[in-house]
Amino acid sequence: MGLWSKGTGLLRFARDLRGLLRATIDVDGCARVIAQGVAQREQRFLTKLERAVYANPSSPYRRLLAAAGCERGDVERLVRTDGLDATLITLARAGVQVSFDELKCRQPAVRGSQTFHFRPEDFDDPLVSAQLSLRSGGTRGAPLRVPIDTEHIAELAPSWAVFLAENGCDTSPLLFWTPGHAGVAARYLACALFGQRYARWFVSEEMHAATDRLYARCVHELSRRAGGFPRAERASFSDPSPVLRCLLELVAQGQRPCVNTAPSAAAKLALLAKRRGDVLDGITFLLGSEPLTAARRATIEASGARAVALYGSSEAPWVGGQCQRAAHADAVHVLLDGYAVVAADEPSYAETHADRTLLLTSLRHAVPKVLLNADIGDRAIITGQRCGCLYDRLGCRLRLHSIRSSDKITELGVTFAVRDVCHVLEDVLPRRIGGVAGDYQLVEARDRDGLPCYVIVVNPELRDVDDAGVPAAFLAELARLERHYRFMASTWERDGLIQVRRGAALASASGKVLAFHRTSEGPPAAAAGR
Ligand SMILES: [Zn+2]
Repeated sequence: MGLWSKGTGLLRFARDLRGLLRATIDVDGCARVIAQGVAQREQRFLTKLERAVYANPSSPYRRLLAAAGCERGDVERLVRTDGLDATLITLARAGVQVSFDELKCRQPAVRGSQTFHFRPEDFDDPLVSAQLSLRSGGTRGAPLRVPIDTEHIAELAPSWAVFLAENGCDTSPLLFWTPGHAGVAARYLACALFGQRYARWFVSEEMHAATDRLYARCVHELSRRAGGFPRAERASFSDPSPVLRCLLELVAQGQRPCVNTAPSAAAKLALLAKRRGDVLDGITFLLGSEPLTAARRATIEASGARAVALYGSSEAPWVGGQCQRAAHADAVHVLLDGYAVVAADEPSYAETHADRTLLLTSLRHAVPKVLLNADIGDRAIITGQRCGCLYDRLGCRLRLHSIRSSDKITELGVTFAVRDVCHVLEDVLPRRIGGVAGDYQLVEARDRDGLPCYVIVVNPELRDVDDAGVPAAFLAELARLERHYRFMASTWERDGLIQVRRGAALASASGKVLAFHRTSEGPPAAAAGR
């Protein structure tokens, strides 16, 4: 999408902003919106299926439904007789589901004798994409979409309001510590709709591409002027001291601030506080975008702060929020007004306590991507025990815990697809610096504090390869694949996140040696003291 379209999109956004910010709602109203949405979820699903799938000739799901011989009347009958979740499981078994790599268009979808080559834009909701302007072409044709549609923002407000209320933060000063991309505007504008304007916003990193940076600045400046928000300040994830100072000042004034950021950033801040002898009592971290593992939670909570999880991704914004009454570190309730979540059928993981690949179906009206049994690259254990918390009372009884990424690597709020990482390690690096496929393996581990540490294991027989140059070469090649990878690659490089070690590649539990190896952290143990 060109500058002209971006420009007209900005004008539309500016026009709609004023109306958006006038339409305020209180927390009780937000809770009612969620409860109503849960009660109507089957109808919401059918409406969305009709509008965004059956009425959209380029919808991948329409083609998968046809390949499965599934007419719209069949789906409707199934939903009426079996309910939504059972219908989705039936559809998934009939091949109406997309894997993470199919969703990201890194792999064609093969169903029986048919092969489908989907394009990223095929997954867009035609109604929403017509209004969306934030689309910057990736170098491989995979656009980075940032939802900034005002209707979408209004739909997010109840999710934020109930999350903050359930976790005791609805009257707290709200801070953001995030990258500077335009999508953050959706977060703070949604919170402003129920009266929680951010007190401070610390930007960890600006966008790298000049047009993205300019665009983000325009979106934030328009939002700031329309809503009277304070100016953003800089605080990189590698130096948390400005955020720490601000939080301590607020606590000294008798306030109980909450901060939305990435778990690894919060863990760094907590470690800094510990080194300085500062206690973070009264501070709550609202943590999304990466799994909140038991180790990360322990590091954060050792500082005196609280850590609460929210779950979602760029394709699936706001899937769920922390259950205060669950035994697991990262247990979140799925917002059933907005999503249905079922497990992909995997006979080898049939035990009830094993984690399963999640298939998400989005029921919200104004989300940019249509998800129908879509794997967003995560696995989790799915449970449904009653707990009596606010989410439970609103009808959101499905809970997920031990959430982990299976097909993606997410650090500090940005994601690499594992398939791309493997492509660079197996095909690109050997061509660029020597060796063959299998000579390089990226190993993901966590240190004691839950902070990320990555090692590229290099075959000891590669005598001509200079170890010191391997991480930079790896990151430079990744950054060439996707525009938004540049941002993450530079963060990794600056923080020196990758070490190099000589040795044999590591094998997985099943004995496979893959280019990307995740050392098993195991499911997070029951969180102590909660
Ligand atoms: Zn609960």
